[in-house]
Amino acid sequence: MNIAVIGTGYVGLVTGTCFAETGINVTCVDIDKKKVDMLRNGEVPIYEPGLDALLERNIDKGRISFTTSLQKAIKDCDAVFIAVGTPPDEDGSADLKYVLGVAREIGQHMEDYKVIITKSTVPVGTSFKVKAAVEEELVSRGVRIPFDVASNPEFLKEGSAVDDFLKPDRIVVGIESKRAEKVMNRLYKPFLMNGHPLLFMDIFSSEMTKYAANSMLATKISFMNDIANLCELVGANVDLVRKGIGSDTRIGNKFIYPGTGYGGSCFPKDVQALVRTADEYGHSLEVLKAVEAVNYRQKTTLVEKIKKHFGENLKGKQFGMWGLAFKPKTDDMREAPSLVIIEQLKAMGANIRAYDPVAMEEAERILGNSIEYAKDEYDVAIDADALIVVTEWSEFRMPNFRILQKLMNEQTIFDGRNVYDPEEMEEIGFNYYSIGRAAIK
Ligand code: NAD
Repeated sequence: MNIAVIGTGYVGLVTGTCFAETGINVTCVDIDKKKVDMLRNGEVPIYEPGLDALLERNIDKGRISFTTSLQKAIKDCDAVFIAVGTPPDEDGSADLKYVLGVAREIGQHMEDYKVIITKSTVPVGTSFKVKAAVEEELVSRGVRIPFDVASNPEFLKEGSAVDDFLKPDRIVVGIESKRAEKVMNRLYKPFLMNGHPLLFMDIFSSEMTKYAANSMLATKISFMNDIANLCELVGANVDLVRKGIGSDTRIGNKFIYPGTGYGGSCFPKDVQALVRTADEYGHSLEVLKAVEAVNYRQKTTLVEKIKKHFGENLKGKQFGMWGLAFKPKTDDMREAPSLVIIEQLKAMGANIRAYDPVAMEEAERILGNSIEYAKDEYDVAIDADALIVVTEWSEFRMPNFRILQKLMNEQTIFDGRNVYDPEEMEEIGFNYYSIGRAAIK
């Protein structure tokens, strides 16, 4: 089979590479020529564990290629995946200009039957907008070419995207014809071993499933953060509460870790977009509105603790920051809590020196010289009045605290991920602040 994947971001590149791994011929398209040039040389423009080796193997086997020409890519292919970005519009709704732009381009160039699959996260009904955009172009060309649309939302997680794609919890496909179902079945058959389910449904339900999934996960995070904040006030320890509730199988022990709020390119924008869609239908999603509000507040929780410790004027204070990416194992900084913390500390006059194992380049692109960039995790601590842990990279889990103490000006740690044991920190001699563990601090 031949497929084209439009957009080579986190989703498009992983999708294309994993399909190539099954033996399918994949042509990936991106409008970003620099990205395409890098990929042609086997260089992966994003950080995603395991992707570089997989890509190299499939380039060597000639199963995956890269181009800026959508016209060339869709020639002779059975299916086209649209995997371009759907960033939030000014009002929070999903901006569909990239998705619909690609749909029009497909309509301008297709010559034979294809299944056109929306993999980008899009509001309910978008696949039918894709269909209308393709049809409009075919009509203006004066040609009648059969095609089907399908919805195939992606559930991969940055940081374990390759594994998630190769061994998915489930694959959701929305279809409206038997012909499209057959194509999708063939494409995904290699991924169904070991019982990974392929769920066919109508297109509306498929599009809704993606938003409902991300919104449920965001709800778990905000719920736990809110409980953590209350734990501090009543003198409870959220880590114990988490274990206590997580052992109930109806609740489960995943995704109930408190922290500095959710970020990334998906949860914030998808929750917002679903709230907008519901508003448009005259239905207010009260739970999700609260989830957003709690998350907004949570991103400032460490800053509040810092203000309590140092006061509101941070002029001349030096802060070391561990972690910039919105979560470990990625270089993605979209909506990262670190950005909010940096902005607020800078506004109070603080200096910040930061280190992240992979997101330094991306941070420099976004933050320029507004902060200093350290060469490693200990460099961050030199003359620091406090260390702030924002992203729980595994290399921050067991640092040499004695070295930190020697380097730091004042021995204070603000831990936004509850990485360390409060009792041990007290024994070593740190002022230690974490999330929802008031019993200790
Ligand atoms: P991204 O921003 O990393 O990549 C999008 C790519 O599309 C870019 O390389 C861009 O240059 C390219 N592009 C834009 N317009 C194009 C065009 N007309 N032709 C060809 N290429 C074009 O985005 P992403 O993180 O991969 O997300 C893509 C979609 O998948 C979004 O809708 C997102 O919500 C969804 N999604 C993302 C994740 C994730 O973890 N990142 C997970 C599941 C779903």
